[in-house]
Amino acid sequence: MKAPAGTSFLSSLLSSSPLLLAMFYQSAVIGVNALGIWNLYLLKREHRSFQKATLPPPFKDAISQEEFEQGASYGRDSTAFKLVDDAFDLLMSNAELFYKLPAKLYKLTSKLFNVALGSFSHSYLFSVCSDACSTLVKLPFSYYDTFVVQQKHGYNRITKRDFFLDALKYFLLRAAFLHPAQTYLIQFVVRRFGRSFPFAFFACTSCLLFLFAHVYPTLIMPLFNKFTPLNQDTLLYAKIQQLASKVHYPLQSVLIMDGSRRSSHGNAFLYGFGSNKRIVLFDTLLEQMEGKEDCIVSVLCHELGHWYYGHVTWMLVPTLFQLCGICFGARTVIFDPNMYGEFGFDDQNPLVGLDLFAQVFLNPICTLTGYLLCYVCRHFEFQADTFAVENDFGEELRHALVLVSKESKKILNPDPLYSALSHTHPPIVERIAAIDAQMLKRTKQAT
Ligand SMILES: [Zn+2]
Repeated sequence: MKAPAGTSFLSSLLSSSPLLLAMFYQSAVIGVNALGIWNLYLLKREHRSFQKATLPPPFKDAISQEEFEQGASYGRDSTAFKLVDDAFDLLMSNAELFYKLPAKLYKLTSKLFNVALGSFSHSYLFSVCSDACSTLVKLPFSYYDTFVVQQKHGYNRITKRDFFLDALKYFLLRAAFLHPAQTYLIQFVVRRFGRSFPFAFFACTSCLLFLFAHVYPTLIMPLFNKFTPLNQDTLLYAKIQQLASKVHYPLQSVLIMDGSRRSSHGNAFLYGFGSNKRIVLFDTLLEQMEGKEDCIVSVLCHELGHWYYGHVTWMLVPTLFQLCGICFGARTVIFDPNMYGEFGFDDQNPLVGLDLFAQVFLNPICTLTGYLLCYVCRHFEFQADTFAVENDFGEELRHALVLVSKESKKILNPDPLYSALSHTHPPIVERIAAIDAQMLKRTKQAT
């Protein structure tokens, strides 16, 4: 890659001081460890919260003490496993930094496949090999989580065959579409536009984000799950139609997804553009709420609340801001030869540069902005619950949340700090209290 015309203030500052020359590498070591230890601390707090868990009053009629203890036991096991998993990740990140493993793999792929250093073929093969290595290293952890931890507590439904097939399908999809597109986009845009690349890169990635949002549910999800239309002669379909027309949702079809193939957790979501919208219900949700059509419709009403207030669009604003920050932030460092040298790379490949930029600067910053996004998401969740209350589904949604928590009992007593920083959904106890307050307010207004 050609060195940029003109020298940035940051580059001249770096080249003037030998101490600052190692700034990137040291920043990465400090950033990776500080973040890793902070996340382990949060997880440890969450793990401890399951040891002193007590059944909250709103669930006393719906969940027995024995069921609750089973949930807490699952919570303890899953957080204990996550602690080991995260500690291993931290160890691996340190090993990568210490032994400069990515740079070694970078040189090895060039030799192994006999491709020119820094060429498109080399960059693509390097991405695929890095992905294959991390997938293989993480697979035993994912296997243990699914077939030991979740299996023990009755949450796993996926077969071993489907588990490995899923991992393979995801890898092949990334190798066939994500890696070539990403490699081409980064190399082409940075080499073609030089220091003006952030404008073009931002425009391209924003378009790809919108495209992916459309393609994911229509083309990718059907590769992993089966979607069947809900029988239009059922009471449930009639109630969903009634609600959709009441809130002016341009509903085209209601689909049932076989979520039970993988997990017993129930869910529902909406997708589609313009006047071509669909509702998807997990078969597990229908199972959990069998014969309780109003409860299922109340969950959909909550989802329709997200659509009504344009939450998905609102969430795009901080995402685009973040993307913009990444593009312009990356420009200040990816043309600096020092950064590549510190991590053991001999040439300046923009694909590697962006990766190193993410490691040194982006991950710590994204953790902080992630906390902010969690706060915004929680506000949206309360707003969507209020929408359901305003559409006379308060009591049913309350009941549905209790039924959902019966299935996912581990979420009843989260650690407040862990929950505030990691969960995009507020604890169910808080949501039920907010629904109760909204219903009381409506009753007072009516009398
Ligand atoms: Zn929601």
